Amino acid sequence: MPNGFWGRILNVDLTTGRIQPETLAEKVYRDYLGGYGLGVSVLFDRMVPGADPLGPDNILAFLPGLLTGSGAPFSGRFMVAARSPLTGGWGDSNCGGNFGPALRGAGYDGVFVRGLAERPVYLYLDEERAELREASDLWGLNVRQTEEAIRKATSMDVRVACIGPAGERRSLMAGIVNDDGRIAGRCGLGAVMGAKRLKAVAARGKRRQPLASPETFKEAAESYRALFRHKPSPLASRIPALLARVLPVLRRFRAKLSSGPAQMVIDTYRRYGTASATAMLVELGDAPVKNWMGIGYRDFPLALSEGVSDEAVIASVEKPYACQACPVACGAIVRLPDGGRGLKPEYETLAALGPLAMVSDLDDVVRCGEICNQAGLDTISVGVVVAFALECAEKGWLPSELKDELALDWGDGKVVLELVQRIARRQPGLGDWLADGVQRAAKRLGLEAQEAAIHAGGQELPMHRGLYEPGVALGYHLDPAPGRHTSTNSGSANLAPLAPYFALHGRRPAGRYDYAEKGPTQAIVMPVLRAFDALGLCQFALLMGRPPFLEWLNAATGWGFDEAEFFRAGKRIQVMRHAFNAREGLPARFPLPARERGEPPQAVGPVAGHTLDMDSMASGYFAFLGLDPATGLPLPETARELGLEAVLPSSR
Ligand code: SF4
Repeated sequence: MPNGFWGRILNVDLTTGRIQPETLAEKVYRDYLGGYGLGVSVLFDRMVPGADPLGPDNILAFLPGLLTGSGAPFSGRFMVAARSPLTGGWGDSNCGGNFGPALRGAGYDGVFVRGLAERPVYLYLDEERAELREASDLWGLNVRQTEEAIRKATSMDVRVACIGPAGERRSLMAGIVNDDGRIAGRCGLGAVMGAKRLKAVAARGKRRQPLASPETFKEAAESYRALFRHKPSPLASRIPALLARVLPVLRRFRAKLSSGPAQMVIDTYRRYGTASATAMLVELGDAPVKNWMGIGYRDFPLALSEGVSDEAVIASVEKPYACQACPVACGAIVRLPDGGRGLKPEYETLAALGPLAMVSDLDDVVRCGEICNQAGLDTISVGVVVAFALECAEKGWLPSELKDELALDWGDGKVVLELVQRIARRQPGLGDWLADGVQRAAKRLGLEAQEAAIHAGGQELPMHRGLYEPGVALGYHLDPAPGRHTSTNSGSANLAPLAPYFALHGRRPAGRYDYAEKGPTQAIVMPVLRAFDALGLCQFALLMGRPPFLEWLNAATGWGFDEAEFFRAGKRIQVMRHAFNAREGLPARFPLPARERGEPPQAVGPVAGHTLDMDSMASGYFAFLGLDPATGLPLPETARELGLEAVLPSSR
């Protein structure tokens, strides 16, 4: 038996009902680690090119990271992967919570589901069993009801990843949810699950994968955990909020904030989570405002942004919530405006349903977020389609059959709430029009409306502006799953854990608008993040000191990876994601909307005068990684270096 992982996946065919465990060679894990690394290796190999994303040939994979379930700090994450119905290309989404460790604990490194079930089913897994069970009575239930019903039918300690009604109705903004609101929201993978009539995967298990050097592993984890045992400083956790208040002064100097000392970040995340950042990022010009048309401090000033930020958000906290094995617990269970309980909204939710739509009433934003969580909808995509609809209404672009349905107006939280409800129900009219994302909604309107549809390759852009950090725009533009802030993790190039990888390549992180160096910088950052994600670790850990992930990996597996090999694994994952898209005939680059590129540049505000030089950044990225800039495929020498000759068209 290998160390650090099981070497075992589960193949499920919903058409035939066949469930088959399979052993994988250790080399697959050495090459691709776990999570979406393992996923892209298997999917590229086994999925028929041209598979309909909502048809039987698409393979939907549930993938704990390589370290998930090991007990390493921050290792509780899992990924979902498939061909995305939203972009038509490689789709993956990353999620915290407790489902990933339970799947690992049941004894699997991944579950790969193909086919279409005749009737709704759910997959139940534990240490002894793997079986498909009838789920007709679960169809139509929201996420909370589904989790409760499966717990009642199985065991109180089962962990459930499921779709809500949005996934059942194949909304292309639907995600897959666990823990009552933790969602693998991106790429429309909930629609894939809905099309397969797979309501849920329920996993239960406490097995721990054997470790090569348990003592070394424990020591490395324990000494890192000591960083989290400091006495919290109330002042440190207030720094982002205080910065938002002094930014009117700092703005004059075009201040760029990167994450500060680890303990300040830890205290901030513990107290507020990512909600700490809303007001600050609006002031800095990082958060988009009014569908990317606004200037944060002018159009959504502090008096408004404070209402959907830090102190306001935590006023209703009842208790902290953590993903498995997390020493921080950036989440919380909050009291909802209707008196119920739910998860504290994250920055992306607050920004997408707040300043993007000019809504400042926190209750309305929280209610919208909760509707999305329970329907199983991605709040980023929903926020973007809502803002798009508001702009269309303002500019008179809505066709007659839609324009009289609701009095859509910027900042009207009650109307936005009603619109979100209609999207969640896919109600005929506005709800159905918006339920498949902004690209498809815009296609129904005239040409002028296209410029208001903010997406890359069909995926709605997240709440970090490329004009504020051009590196993040590069990720939106050319990552094989476009329009994702986690593909580059804005600003991460300067973080301490990335330093060895810049040293390895004899480079330094590019300055903020150094377009010539930005491509190589992201070509270093992105493979490291791919490998880091494939371990199942939370990217927030990179803001908090130097997590000893190589030590954990080596103590778990006995492999002896160094930075070069870790980088190579991440590069291989990234290249395979590109190769997947190339095989599907997708371009290597996805155009960004003019507003995101700064064409024309903003006249005032923190990012005034800037236009993104996407061509320089993109060519630097492809050249550094040794990829063909037209297709994203590896050049022959890159394919040889990574052992990926088989992906080249000449070898197929
Ligand atoms: S920091 Fe937050 S998102 Fe990351 S593992 Fe911990 S609780 Fe989960």
